[in-house]
Amino acid sequence: MPEPAPCSVQGRPAAPGLAQGPLVLLDETVAVSGPAAGPDEEATRLTRAIGAAVEDLTRLMTGLDAESAGIVEFQIAMLEDEALSAPALAGIAEGQGAARAWQAVLDEQIADYAAADDEYFRARASDLTDLRDRVLRNLGGGGATAAAVAGAILTGTDVTPTRFLEMDWSDGGGVALRKGSPTSHVAMLARARGVPMVVGLGDIDLSAHREALLDGESGALILSPDAEERRRFAEQQAAFDAARRAAEPFRDKPGLTRDGQRIAVLINVADPVELEALDPALCDGIGLVRTELLFHGDDGLPDEERQYAVYRRILEWAGERPVTIRTLDAGGDKPIAGLTAEGESNPFLGLRGLRLSLARPEVFRVQLRALARAACHGQLKVMLPMVTRPEELQAARRLFQEVLEELRAEGVDCTAAPLGIMVEVPAVAITPELFAGADFFSIGSNDLTQYVTAAGRDIAAVAELGDTANPAVLKLIRSCVEGARALGIEVSLCGDAGGEPALIPDLLDCGLRSLSVAPAALGRTKAAIAEVDLAGRAENGSEGRHGQA
Ligand code: PEP
Ligand code: MG
Repeated sequence: MPEPAPCSVQGRPAAPGLAQGPLVLLDETVAVSGPAAGPDEEATRLTRAIGAAVEDLTRLMTGLDAESAGIVEFQIAMLEDEALSAPALAGIAEGQGAARAWQAVLDEQIADYAAADDEYFRARASDLTDLRDRVLRNLGGGGATAAAVAGAILTGTDVTPTRFLEMDWSDGGGVALRKGSPTSHVAMLARARGVPMVVGLGDIDLSAHREALLDGESGALILSPDAEERRRFAEQQAAFDAARRAAEPFRDKPGLTRDGQRIAVLINVADPVELEALDPALCDGIGLVRTELLFHGDDGLPDEERQYAVYRRILEWAGERPVTIRTLDAGGDKPIAGLTAEGESNPFLGLRGLRLSLARPEVFRVQLRALARAACHGQLKVMLPMVTRPEELQAARRLFQEVLEELRAEGVDCTAAPLGIMVEVPAVAITPELFAGADFFSIGSNDLTQYVTAAGRDIAAVAELGDTANPAVLKLIRSCVEGARALGIEVSLCGDAGGEPALIPDLLDCGLRSLSVAPAALGRTKAAIAEVDLAGRAENGSEGRHGQA
């Protein structure tokens, strides 16, 4: 068969890095047989198959890092939950075979998760697929899994977390999926292990192709590359690997510029699971805890106890280091069923962040109570997202005060915490002097950039326009930093720009001395900071370059 022509497909980046190698198709089908025996025996077979799956997963956990083990534990908890086994056993009682009954229940759940509006829920469909197939295999359904080829690029519709964990990634390789999600457990695992991954490639036919180049930075998959493409890719890959190796020694050092100025480097956290495998000494604290994930549980909005337990755990992890927990930033691209407004024509300009919390004080109060209680366990700072007017900050402060008084009256331990704001709405960045009532500012460059450039952060076609390096965005960041300094208010930045090496010199030129970045970006951020000679830049006039645009 002649070699097919090279072609490139675009997906979404889910884990950084570059890989080239043979394509291995992952999709597997597990054969399902009819009932082999009567209902009692079929029920016993199912219960045994589930038990064996729990044992398999428990074995798989041995030697895993805390993050990976957490994901397998999550699957065990799902398997042990009667929400899956009870309806399957009911199906068996009605005459279905164990395999068919289990498959019917799991397929229904997978379809529900896959159709969810929320990406976090959609991403859990792959965990359920994993459980469905594992139990079906234990029921004797067979089903071959693709042979693991060292350095291969695994492709398919989706990949299950345990399939990923069973692979040996020490010889490189990557993952390229038709569906999948950057927020899936597999994507978290891939990022943690440095395995490049691209998702959302769409309904492409890969069958004719044997080799591919995978770019986890841009989200591209190049199929059947020609010699010139391979050569260019190998160069890029070498540069990426060199940058990663060069950044590694900086990870456990403090952020210091070439001329010795200290830059605080904190981390952004979306899921407390991320902290389990991380040494707090690698960072100067947590500059942003996104609390949205907590509100995505199956049992509705989290109550005060659940929130308190999570916030407390995060504060205890950080010890003496500061921890900034942001109040719920639902809405925009983060809908929460039963809470956020439906059918907004432009949700990024709608009832989101603090606007929503103030509109739903009964939900907001619960979060503020949990935060006031957690504040006794560390150096908590509370941050309000999407503030637009000073009155909103005042209203939140009043509510926080009321909640503290209420807790004290109930005899519950609590402490006041500094109350600061995200600067992500241009109205705030333009007039920081109106927000002198805030205890701190944290610049949200992700939203600030999309609002200043009018380029939606979730719209790939305008991604190039939504650039934080745009002189207008940098000018605003600089004036906001200067405004904060004039007020004596501490200011930092917690948007993704803080972890972008190419932007770091500009951000430091703007006067920022504190950046909060994804844990995976700690090494490269500190390495980029170490390249910057702030005194030299000021002398040569590079400082202020963007402010005068
Ligand atoms: C931001 O907007 O820069 C930010 C950090 O918040 P999020 O990305 O959660 O909107
Ligand atoms: Mg934001």
